[in-house]
Amino acid sequence: MALEESEVLRAIRAKKSELGARLTILTHHYQRPEIVAVGDHMGDSFGLSRLAAQNEKARHIVFCGVHFMAESAAVLAGPGRTVQIPDMNAGCPMAEMADPVNVETAWRELAGLLGQEILVPLVYMNSSAELKAFCGARGGAVCTSSNAKTALKWAFSRGSRVLFFPDQHLGRNSGNALGLARDEMIVWSPGKPLGGNSAGSIRRSRLILWDGFCHVHTKFTPEHIADARKRLPGAKIIVHPECPEEVVNAADASGSTDQMVKYVKAAPSGSVIVIGTEIHLVERLAAEIPEKTILPLFRSMCPNMFKISPEKLLAVLEDIGRKNLVEVPEDIKADAGKALSRMLELAP
Ligand code: SF4
Repeated sequence: MALEESEVLRAIRAKKSELGARLTILTHHYQRPEIVAVGDHMGDSFGLSRLAAQNEKARHIVFCGVHFMAESAAVLAGPGRTVQIPDMNAGCPMAEMADPVNVETAWRELAGLLGQEILVPLVYMNSSAELKAFCGARGGAVCTSSNAKTALKWAFSRGSRVLFFPDQHLGRNSGNALGLARDEMIVWSPGKPLGGNSAGSIRRSRLILWDGFCHVHTKFTPEHIADARKRLPGAKIIVHPECPEEVVNAADASGSTDQMVKYVKAAPSGSVIVIGTEIHLVERLAAEIPEKTILPLFRSMCPNMFKISPEKLLAVLEDIGRKNLVEVPEDIKADAGKALSRMLELAP
């Protein structure tokens, strides 16, 4: 018989006190409130990766987020620790838009065309461990939405061109922030010869952007922003850098989830702030900070983050160290670890 939600939450708390410091529950900002309430640490993928690497006391990490995040924690956590995810099917469609075969093909074609020029791979955190390992083995790094601009600058200090994958929007917004010209950024569409580009446009480019996107953040449009400005004159509008550049350019600020939380907390009391990101973060901030008016730019939800439920969390806690283990083969771990360590060094 299914338990009432309050009973499930009580059982989760009981399991937590039984496991004590041996357990840490990491929750992403986009998790539903019931999950956040029983988590130990909340953050974005950058902050949570750092916690997974640092908190050595906890032998068991339960990651309430999507699969690539738990995989990164498994790479960074070190030996003798386990990482579990409440739902193995909580994936990220954007992460799946780049696969090792297509990325290898792109790399080979680009290397063939560019000859001796140094191409640096930069992979967004939202990717498989295999792609992180691809970057680590080729002198590249992982970046997050917190440090993408810094990471891109770092990549250009090492080579003349950068292959950025899988999110074209984060890549383009970071390229814009560094002042790259329009024709210096091209989009690589996997499956097309030369990614759908001419040899000339590739030679002119500096930043090659994979044709990936987040369906949650591409729902926001410049029309949403124009409408919010009309309805709420004086409101500040902030958006996530996975949004298209027209949206980022029309907003007052853009930043990772952690950066948006800081922006909201630093705003004066009475501020009206409209946020373009996943709805659970916006609703939580609105509930936690009643002295400011916090509204969604548009209701956009990540169905994959929502797959993590209290019942599924309880099921992994009841089978700690065994159920839904997220493991990464040692050879992939070594190279993915190099790219993730570079990410942690490249502070936002
Ligand atoms: S919000 Fe977008 S990028 Fe984040 S997990 Fe969901 S689909 Fe992936």
